[in-house]
Amino acid sequence: MAKAEREPRVLDLEHDRIQCPLCGRWMKIPMFDLHYGRCLDIAYLVSVAKKRGEEFTREDLENCKQEVIDKLLAKYPPKGIESVDSLWKKQ
Ligand SMILES: [Zn+2]
Repeated sequence: MAKAEREPRVLDLEHDRIQCPLCGRWMKIPMFDLHYGRCLDIAYLVSVAKKRGEEFTREDLENCKQEVIDKLLAKYPPKGIESVDSLWKKQ
């Protein structure tokens, strides 16, 4: 197997990748914090919009500016992390 798997090593922030548990995308570790917050918001908005008969997809939202996401979050205020998680699990 690859040499890297046998040797203990520290994380390489520039080259190591981490996978987002929500969308499955791989990215550099320093980008993950920023991505995850937005990804969680998008997951929430997609499921809440579906319930209210508004159709937009994850792709639509991923291409939106942050202001648009923020406006939608203001329109559909999340009740809390717990509800976001339960919405996500139902998908
Ligand atoms: Zn993601």
